[in-house]
Amino acid sequence: MHTRQAFIDNFADLPELADFANTAHWLSLRGWSEGAGGNMSVRIDRKITLLRDIPSDDYIQLPVHVPFLADTLIYLTGSGTRTRETALNPTQDVGLYYIAKDGQSYCWLAGNSSPTSELPAHCAIHNALAEHRPDDKAIMHTHPANLISLCHVPELANSKAVSDKILRLQSEARLHLPEGIGYVPHQIPGSLELGLASAKLVNVHRLVLWHMHGCLATGTSLAHAFDYMEVFEKCARMYWTLRAAGIDPVGMKEEDIVKTLTEFGRLDRYT
Ligand SMILES: [Zn+2]
Repeated sequence: MHTRQAFIDNFADLPELADFANTAHWLSLRGWSEGAGGNMSVRIDRKITLLRDIPSDDYIQLPVHVPFLADTLIYLTGSGTRTRETALNPTQDVGLYYIAKDGQSYCWLAGNSSPTSELPAHCAIHNALAEHRPDDKAIMHTHPANLISLCHVPELANSKAVSDKILRLQSEARLHLPEGIGYVPHQIPGSLELGLASAKLVNVHRLVLWHMHGCLATGTSLAHAFDYMEVFEKCARMYWTLRAAGIDPVGMKEEDIVKTLTEFGRLDRYT
């Protein structure tokens, strides 16, 4: 818990905290973020009035240059925070940070002041979103067992195979995720490399599966990112149910997927 004096006086009233509390509640209920697993962040472009100037000593260097985040604010869950507690007390578990105008350093403004070790990774991913999909301002990382289990099937352990096999099992899944699922081969948890590999994929993909680790979702809000995660997780649950029944599902015909995406004007996003 921080003892520093915040730079804003209305942190608890900021609207994004409700999105954190709600999403943390559902992550916890679903059992996707066990222990202190997973983390969330939201980027905001609007200006917030500060109570005083930020001392230059408060700025911490980032190991990655994030020019598209220059002069913006990011909410981020704190190190070791648990979703089941974040749901009840978001002001204690979520911190607000300012990214400096040089895009190379950040400082704490309010709330939790011990950011997740994945702060640089989150910044790298937000930087890619701000450049390529500016409406998507939320990032959620969690550990759904049905999704991690897919990585244990060698023939599914890549973007094309897992997208083609799993998103074919329900008629709306590919409609929500026409680009399919991005896939990052094994990286050290919490590493900048994992963030940089994900940043390359979120240019196109709403969801990125991390090999034997978990999944990253992006969206206009945390609730929206959660929607995408639910769609993918539902299909994965169906896959494991069918496999347990001795069925290796074939799923929808290619022509039916193409017809559906054409009807909704999303065929150009289908790869
Ligand atoms: Zn994780």
